[in-house]
Amino acid sequence: MADANTCRCLIGGQWTEAHTDRFDPVRNPSTGETIAHVPMCGNEDVDRAVQAALKAFPAWRDTPPPDRARIMFRFHDLLQQHTDELARLVTREHGKTFLESKASVQRGIEMVEFSAGIPALLMGDALRNIAPDVDAETIRHPLGVVAGITPFNFPAMVPLWMYPVAITCGNCFILKPSERVPLSALGIAELLLEAGLPEGVFSIVHGDKACVDALLTHPGIKALSFVGSTAVARHVYQTGTAHGKRVQAAGGAKNHMVIMPDAELDPTISGMRHSAFGCAGERCMAGSLAVPVGDIADEVVARLCKAAGAMRVGRTDLPDATVDMGPLITQAHLERVRGYIAAAEREGADLVLDGRQLEVADAPGGFFVGPTIVDRVQPEMSVAREEIFGPVLPVVRVATLDEAMALGDKCQYANGAVIFTTSGPAARRFKHNFSAGMIGVNVGVPAPLAWFPFTGWKNSFFGDLHIQAAEGVAFYTQQRMIMTRWFEPARKDTHDPVWRPGKT
Ligand code: NAD
Repeated sequence: MADANTCRCLIGGQWTEAHTDRFDPVRNPSTGETIAHVPMCGNEDVDRAVQAALKAFPAWRDTPPPDRARIMFRFHDLLQQHTDELARLVTREHGKTFLESKASVQRGIEMVEFSAGIPALLMGDALRNIAPDVDAETIRHPLGVVAGITPFNFPAMVPLWMYPVAITCGNCFILKPSERVPLSALGIAELLLEAGLPEGVFSIVHGDKACVDALLTHPGIKALSFVGSTAVARHVYQTGTAHGKRVQAAGGAKNHMVIMPDAELDPTISGMRHSAFGCAGERCMAGSLAVPVGDIADEVVARLCKAAGAMRVGRTDLPDATVDMGPLITQAHLERVRGYIAAAEREGADLVLDGRQLEVADAPGGFFVGPTIVDRVQPEMSVAREEIFGPVLPVVRVATLDEAMALGDKCQYANGAVIFTTSGPAARRFKHNFSAGMIGVNVGVPAPLAWFPFTGWKNSFFGDLHIQAAEGVAFYTQQRMIMTRWFEPARKDTHDPVWRPGKT
């Protein structure tokens, strides 16, 4: 049964109980305590949301883009006023530190800033006289009802990658947030309603696979944006496209950090620490494999162990928390990450910093593991090939940049990659040739801001048009091309500028 702590759906502008008897707990990962329950919606709730969105669509489609943009300006102000509150909510249900949460809310706010420019972004092209007396133009139309399915690791930011763009393009949007972290999405939705968004334009349903599959197969939904693991991204892409929908599906990652012998070590170690262990490694752009080139390896590993070992790990949910790193998302994920550390040890790698030793005295029920570094990893070991999604950094030592590049070629993922170097030629070779869609040169986390697309390759992305920026606008719109020719009247008497019906 639903109670006061049960998440509601947002359908037709109303907060409504889900029609289900299946619920999951939402936990505070710092303590393991249940803080809410989330309903597992199915076909019925999804259909209710789609019908409300279909009803809202014609009026919203015809709302002038500058008016849609003005709602974004109000939404933006509200997000800024409530940033700290929202960041605390993100921390409570996800576990990242308050500063990390705040930065993630800021990244989301930037998507609203981008979307407020929609009148300019939606403009089409026009060419006078493409043929004698013929003019051609293109106009961008919204698709209709579109949906977004999001992961646990950025409860506020990843949904905001999607719906401000989709909505300002004139679509109605249905969000299915991660069932692990539904609370931030609900808090932000309150602000969107307060900003004056008409009812039915934005809806929220909750749940797991059953809810996702209902969205993937519903004939009223024209397009789906997905962010999550590769296995589910592939399923979403295949099922959604088989049901005639446009799909963009971002998946998992294994982001190589290549350190050249000439790298400037102080900022390099700081960048690597931030990249590998920020947000407890639960980032799709986290540096998740270190590749030192040549004889710099010993120093990199030693200095990184010192920097990572000094990180304060603990509860993030207390108002005065001063820790550098929080817990993982669930007990199951904690066990999975610990399993990777054990596997690396079994397979013969050198565990130089073991986060399994960590104890957080004031939170025995929290899902904690400390920063972990595994040296002398071989490329075929599971920690080198698979996404761990935790604070575990495997180190594969190589002799040359060519060897480092070859590791990237063999990797199934191609989200991001980073090179630390002072050599222009090495950086240039890397940025043009390393097998990854997002490249950092002396930048530990090259995650694109709102004005650039999130360009994963290989198993890190399924689809054509990426999330964010102009590609996002293209994804949420369809173009119409119009050719026009006007004939000079042959009979003068039809050329009457004040012709009225009934007048002959
Ligand atoms: P996940 O794939 O388990 O879940 C993502 C969404 O899919 C959730 O809303 C969930 O309810 C739903 N889902 C889960 N299993 C499903 C199934 N079998 N069928 C249909 N839907 C299902 O991912 P997660 O654990 O929440 O998030 C972590 C993953 O997301 C990592 O792999 C990370 O790399 C990836 N990620 C990628 C990007 C990117 O831009 N490429 C960004 C953030 C996170």
